[in-house]
Amino acid sequence: MQFASLGSGSRGNCTLVEAGGTTILVDCGFSMRETERRLQRLSREIQEIDAILVTHEHGDHVRGVASLAKKYAIPVWSSRGTAKAAKLEGLAELGQWNCIDIHQQFEIGALQVQPVPVPHDAKEPCQFVFSDGDWRLGVLTDTGSITPYIEEQYSGCDAFILEANHDEEMLAQGAYPNSLKQRVGGNFGHLNNSQAKNLLDTIDISKLQYLVASHISDKNNTVALARDKMSEALDADASWIDVASQDEGLDWRVLMHHL
Ligand SMILES: [Zn+2]
Ligand SMILES: [Zn+2]
Repeated sequence: MQFASLGSGSRGNCTLVEAGGTTILVDCGFSMRETERRLQRLSREIQEIDAILVTHEHGDHVRGVASLAKKYAIPVWSSRGTAKAAKLEGLAELGQWNCIDIHQQFEIGALQVQPVPVPHDAKEPCQFVFSDGDWRLGVLTDTGSITPYIEEQYSGCDAFILEANHDEEMLAQGAYPNSLKQRVGGNFGHLNNSQAKNLLDTIDISKLQYLVASHISDKNNTVALARDKMSEALDADASWIDVASQDEGLDWRVLMHHL
């Protein structure tokens, strides 16, 4: 199993997950042209994408989904609430939309997909844990708080793409209007660095080959703060933690058995 990021942050998110000949996108918050450009960087073409999974309807996750799906006849998977809010009915009419029960595991090609409902200010949001039978990759962003079910599902992953959206201090002192500060920092907003660290403290991370800090705010956080805080939960240096950045994303990371 391998994965990469086309980019992560409030201006666009898209993750690539690949195993056993199946290639999927998780969200697509970039325009079609931008997505094509970023896929090229990772040596992939849109024609190779077998499915697009959509976590929720916010623009930084769905901007390119409908146009890409239509142009290249790619099937899309999302909850019913997300499809409604993201206006994916056009795809449903074309037979290209698949409904996710966000409590029920399903399969796309070689990938088993476990949706995980998350507290976020969207209609019916979920995040995902992927498995190919050998490896488990957790993707968790756009979550305002941690539920017991999240702790259960993301425990024991081999790789974890985890939101470290903001530093509490920087958000509090920053330029955002109060209403936005409350939204971002609230129970249905985004994970801050300490929440990410606390989750890592709580769950089994003994198998982690990769930890990727993601959805990092460029106004209310820094890469150094996010890495430092998360590394407190690890037996590793902050520099060991990967970063999925807004402009560069993250190059391919491959899960493998070490001899
Ligand atoms: Zn987002
Ligand atoms: Zn969101």
